Amino acid sequence: MSYTPMMLQYFEVKNKYEGYLLFYRLGDFYEMFFEDAIVASRELELTLTGRDCGMSERAPMCGVPFHAADTYIARLVKKGYKVAICEQLEDPQTATGIVKRDVIRIITPGTVTEGALLSDGKNNYLCSVYDNGKQVGMCVCDISTAETYATDFCDKDIYIRLLNELGIYCPSELIVNRQEKDLQSVFSFVKERVGGIAQTLQQDFFKGNAVQNVKAQFGTKVLSDNMIEDDSAVVYAINGLLQYLKETQKTDISYINNLNYYNNDRFMSIDLSTRRNLEICETLRNKEKKGTLLWVLDYTKTAMGARLLRKWCEQPLLSVPLIQRRQNAIKELCDNFMIKDEISDALCKVSDLERLMTKIVYNSANGKDLKSLEYTCAVLPLIKDCLNSFSCNELSDFYNSLDTLQDIGSLINSAIIDDPPFLIREGGFIKQGYSPEVDQLRSMMGEGKEWIARIEQTEREQTGIKNLKVGYNRVFGYYIEISKSFVSQAPERYIRKQTLANCERYITQELKDMESRVLGAQDKLVALEYELFQQIREVVAQNISRIQDAANILSKLDVYASLADAAKKNSFVCPEVDYSDKLEINDGRHPVVEIFTKGMFVPNDTNMDNASRLMLITGPNMAGKSTYMRQNALIIIMAQMGSFVPAKYARIGIVDKMFSRIGASDDLASGQSTFMLEMNEVAYILGNATSKSFIIYDEIGRGTSTFDGMSIARAVAEYTASKKCGAKTMFATHYHELCELADSCEGIVNYSIAAKKRADELIFLRKIVKGSADDSFGIEVALLAGVPGEVIKRAREILENLENNKAVPRNKKLKERQNYNEGMFTLDDLAENEVCKKLNKLDLDTLTPMEALTTLYELQKLAQQ
Ligand code: ADP
Repeated sequence: MSYTPMMLQYFEVKNKYEGYLLFYRLGDFYEMFFEDAIVASRELELTLTGRDCGMSERAPMCGVPFHAADTYIARLVKKGYKVAICEQLEDPQTATGIVKRDVIRIITPGTVTEGALLSDGKNNYLCSVYDNGKQVGMCVCDISTAETYATDFCDKDIYIRLLNELGIYCPSELIVNRQEKDLQSVFSFVKERVGGIAQTLQQDFFKGNAVQNVKAQFGTKVLSDNMIEDDSAVVYAINGLLQYLKETQKTDISYINNLNYYNNDRFMSIDLSTRRNLEICETLRNKEKKGTLLWVLDYTKTAMGARLLRKWCEQPLLSVPLIQRRQNAIKELCDNFMIKDEISDALCKVSDLERLMTKIVYNSANGKDLKSLEYTCAVLPLIKDCLNSFSCNELSDFYNSLDTLQDIGSLINSAIIDDPPFLIREGGFIKQGYSPEVDQLRSMMGEGKEWIARIEQTEREQTGIKNLKVGYNRVFGYYIEISKSFVSQAPERYIRKQTLANCERYITQELKDMESRVLGAQDKLVALEYELFQQIREVVAQNISRIQDAANILSKLDVYASLADAAKKNSFVCPEVDYSDKLEINDGRHPVVEIFTKGMFVPNDTNMDNASRLMLITGPNMAGKSTYMRQNALIIIMAQMGSFVPAKYARIGIVDKMFSRIGASDDLASGQSTFMLEMNEVAYILGNATSKSFIIYDEIGRGTSTFDGMSIARAVAEYTASKKCGAKTMFATHYHELCELADSCEGIVNYSIAAKKRADELIFLRKIVKGSADDSFGIEVALLAGVPGEVIKRAREILENLENNKAVPRNKKLKERQNYNEGMFTLDDLAENEVCKKLNKLDLDTLTPMEALTTLYELQKLAQQ
């Protein structure tokens, strides 16, 4: 027995695409076979059937109708599968033998372009990472918008840095050149945090012809001299990404032509946990946008603007002139709010040009897509006009370079009707007057149809049969229908075609002639309309870079208008930014909490510089310490992304890196204890912070015993404030003992968030004041939270006792540590025990001098181990 020819063809294709679910086109279905069928039927809840394959057992099979394939593919890709689409390459009706088939496209989580799989306000990135041991290069690309970024790291903590960078893009697919232990965290980030897929590919995949390939794609100037040094990780990463795209897309990817290379002196570095803690684009708990900084700032009108704003939030700048350039644009929009409103209204009509261009490249754009491009073009002159009123550099550059694409808009306008159908292969969308040929075919069809409509009347008159009807069906085409009782009156020229229960159906030569003219014209018309559509699409494709440039300006303009809106709505001010050591904020507010507290938010000041660089903040739980610290971090981020900030006045010296160590963020999935995680983060912060950095420590050292915790907290505060680090730091703690540091350590200043106790009630004043708090009011907060009165009462008794015995004898503290240590089992102990055992067993009376020496030698060896 052997497989059928079709099955052999299936295997031939399938063997080339191992690891992919193969959608094999058979007529109107995409079928899957064998293991693929089992997987797909399980994942898509499809019925598993079988197909004769030439062997004794039928091949497991399941399928989906080709016209509904997109939604099934979307579901599979969302679950992390990779799908290969195998199409019929010739018309089955004209092909001789088995129809030629091959894979025409591969769809993976990082390479989808289908709208069903993409979210408007978010990019979908594919990421390529190349690690050569000393250097890690990374390249990300969103093929639905053509945005491509690359960067590299070569100093310490490269894997943590890589992870931090991935936190910006959250790629849904990752390819890497090796699967070292160090890269495991990167793999699990993509799999667990993003729900994406990650795979390792051969070195050669990244290395082959790298420099030539990258230059061919992005132009010869894209690589600087130091990037093309031997073994440059970033060039290999970019090349790997390009090769992967070429392999999977099987289409021209020349529209991906703009590579943005940056290194870490361009953006503020924000590590992964800080990004999460500060809730910049996603809340910690629900991973939602509502309740984040992005949510406060987002008044964008276009999907392109929404994506760009997200990027700006994730990547605050380091360059004062660049920040000021953004500020000036927002300032002008705020000062000319009516014009801004006009721009915003116009932007509402702008469609997602970036993703539209990808559809054009992939030949998947339809009439509606072209129409949305036309409507966008239609508002561009108005936007350009508005831009003419501005004088700042950014907006006047927009004015000068915005191409209003009128030629493209009017081409589409002249060619395509206002509400075209979704399908482009069924005609009916070319406007009257665009093509004389289309018009002629339409009038032929029209006349034919009219003639057919007329013959019902003429035939009735000629035959005298009153209920004679003309009808149409797919099998016989047009026919004349006569009920049984009048059949005898049918003239001779009627040719009988079909007998039904109550009637007979006939055709006539004349009717058939007209029918073939009508249907012939219709076929021609459909083909012609499709051809014209492709011509128009081609014209658009040729102008892709003009459209991409316009898209770029429109998305930035949208972000500026959005930031102007946010500033107006929330009474933000333009901060002064410079390279000084200052952080001065008057009446600063938390941009998110102030919205939730609805006018009840208490603003607070901040005054830090090198002389007062570490604020040691005490105060009861719930007083507002975390809110205060985060508000400062967010104000700095907002200022450096160019936005206005929630304050009366702010002066911000550029911060190079932002760190936070907040609360007990248990990460059970990573299998690390809370305390271990906390210490990992502290180690990273201390190893990377500079005097230009900003750090938030929210109660460090809480995951261990009191003395350990306090000692660690104190040592961290001392080190951070010292010259070795010197970062601006906000350090919230319940260890009131640390407050004495303000007297002994330069740069440390005590602050507290005021709360008052009135009778048993605790009143939060929410004001930050100089000096330390004298109480944590923990019991009062427990009372507020509804802890039963009995427990509160007992807690008070215990507290009183403790306070009366406040001078805990020092030897008791030591004892506590000793007990702790006794419980531990160390390697040193092991060696000691062995040595002791051996010594004990020795019989000194019988030992010869030679044996004594050998034993001594052995004992020393044991001890050294
Ligand atoms: P802590 O860190 O001191 O325990 P939080 O910063 O978590 O306290 O603040 C507790 C709650 O107090 C917040 O959820 C917020 O609703 C409110 N809050 C904090 N700061 C302010 C403020 N400045 N004005 C008004 N409400 C505030």
